[in-house]
Amino acid sequence: MTPFKYQRASSAEDAVRRVAANPQARFLGGGTNLLDLMKEGVTGADEIVDLTRLQDLAEIAETAEGGLRLGALANNTRTANHPLVRARYPLLSQAILAGATMQLRNMATNGGNLLQRTRCVYFYDTGVPCNKRDPGSGCPAIGGLARQHAILGASAQCIATHPSDMCVALAALEAVVHVTSPRGPRAIAFADFHRLPGDTPHIDTHLAHDELITHIELPPGRFEGHSTYLKLRDRASYAFALVSVAAALDLGADGNIREARIALGGVAHKPWRVPGAERVLAGKPPTPETFALAADLLLRDAVAQEGISGNAFKIPMARRAVVRALGMAAAGILSNTGEDGARMRGNP
Ligand code: SF4
Repeated sequence: MTPFKYQRASSAEDAVRRVAANPQARFLGGGTNLLDLMKEGVTGADEIVDLTRLQDLAEIAETAEGGLRLGALANNTRTANHPLVRARYPLLSQAILAGATMQLRNMATNGGNLLQRTRCVYFYDTGVPCNKRDPGSGCPAIGGLARQHAILGASAQCIATHPSDMCVALAALEAVVHVTSPRGPRAIAFADFHRLPGDTPHIDTHLAHDELITHIELPPGRFEGHSTYLKLRDRASYAFALVSVAAALDLGADGNIREARIALGGVAHKPWRVPGAERVLAGKPPTPETFALAADLLLRDAVAQEGISGNAFKIPMARRAVVRALGMAAAGILSNTGEDGARMRGNP
């Protein structure tokens, strides 16, 4: 690992001032991704600004509007198990519990979850080229090991996927990311937080270098009765999604769909939503035939990777997963992970 300078921030203002002064400085939260990247030589940080003592960034509390404020430094375990998250945003709770392991969730912070980098194997192997790690060097995943890679929104420069489960739920719930910097605070709609790779795959988000996530805001919950996080992966735990679906339905008194939200994970450089695929469900009955219309629109632009380990299987898998997740949401089934969905439905 490259030697680095360690500093402990005394406040959010102190943290952003220190990072703004050094382009090679990084904020440190739980460190579950950043320290790996530093050990592997993927990230060349020469200064670490430790945020972990900033307790005011770890609060979880109701907002005046009836939503929820999730502190950037609250860890994933505490967030997933918070009574208000479990009661009002069970989709988010299930998505977090579907990710990583208990030990990692105990360390990983909410802010860090948003900023974790792709798990493309080539990105972590400094012995091979990678446009995300070293812009202009090439992308060996194209034509190579692409089983985990994107079928939507990829570019000729990068076909990586975003690894987070939490972010897929936050996209469906239309969260807002609040950040601060020496220029003051600003709010970023979740749909605008992460980027597609385009010609600059080394840039994952629309955050400036010196912008610090302070909290994530959830709007008032109204999908708690009919939401599902469905995660399909190679093994039952501690594996990234091949395909995941965050599905949420608001059903009217007549049983028809008033509003739908659908976000896909494991298929693109960011959680994938298509507004038209959600609008097409409005006013329709919650049937497999209706859900298939949304799946077709979500996957309309999907492109598979050929090669020694391609990902063509993801397209039909994602289509079926969307239909299944929406059916589970309509039926009030929280997830396929078996974490504790039944208990969260009121059977403590
Ligand atoms: Fe690098 Fe992206 Fe290609 Fe993976 S897919 S090797 S992260 S450029």
